[in-house]
Amino acid sequence: TPNLKIENLHVEIEGTEIIKGFDLEMNGGEIHAIMGPNGTGKSTLASAVMGHPKYEITKGTITLDGEDVLDMEVDERARAGLFLAMQYPSEVSGVTNSDFMRSAINAKRGEGNEIQLMKFIRQMDEKMNMLEIDESFSQRYLNEGFSGGEKKRNEILQLLMMEPKIAILDEIDSGLDIDALKVVSKGVNDMKSPDFGCLIITHYQRLLNYITPDKVHVMMQGRIVKSGGAELAQRLENEGYEWIKEELGIEN
Ligand code: ADP
Ligand code: MG
Ligand code: MG
Repeated sequence: TPNLKIENLHVEIEGTEIIKGFDLEMNGGEIHAIMGPNGTGKSTLASAVMGHPKYEITKGTITLDGEDVLDMEVDERARAGLFLAMQYPSEVSGVTNSDFMRSAINAKRGEGNEIQLMKFIRQMDEKMNMLEIDESFSQRYLNEGFSGGEKKRNEILQLLMMEPKIAILDEIDSGLDIDALKVVSKGVNDMKSPDFGCLIITHYQRLLNYITPDKVHVMMQGRIVKSGGAELAQRLENEGYEWIKEELGIEN
């Protein structure tokens, strides 16, 4: 089963250190949640793992199944089985959702091993159905004019189609109403298997009412300061983050 290991990661943006000694290990079959106050480096972590050029890794290692992820280009990371659903998905004009999805899948599968068109269409239909996404979606330009909720559903559609080994979902729940939240959760729960590990980054506990995490990590000031089970998320919901700050003697 897949294994993602992040050790003593330090990341800088434009000379400022944002991630300060981050450690995490997760395996296939597991769902981990990272929770934490705003501005604590959660999105930075996700972008650094995916290889965003703006984020400089100054120390530490990231491996997927023992392979050095930091040595891979962005597209290689996707091919190796990493997937990132971004907090703010970008719009791409002139490329339909369907074309985008098919080229992403084919890029991952490699030349000579392209997915059959009929098989692709069948899979896309099936997943769109499950996510209660309107048929017209596949021919619309990627994320263009999509509502917040539509973008998030679309990210989950990509997740289901790409079948990565490890997915990082950054605030996939933000701006979703309860119905959309349920649909998105159904998508993630449907992926659950020993071949798939999922890291859910969230500000709120409510998503975790629908997706039960095996482990919950609290991130503050660029690193994990506390880990526990699903009950930790509940306590954060009830009591906020203050008690952890007190416990750790963190100011502000
Ligand atoms: P979170 O996702 O936990 O809310 P972020 O990773 O978005 O936190 O941000 C962490 C810190 O890094 C913040 O202080 C933010 O201002 C800073 N930061 C994030 N992205 C950039 C960027 N592109 N350029 C400069 N600073 C950034
Ligand atoms: Mg934020
Ligand atoms: Mg963020």
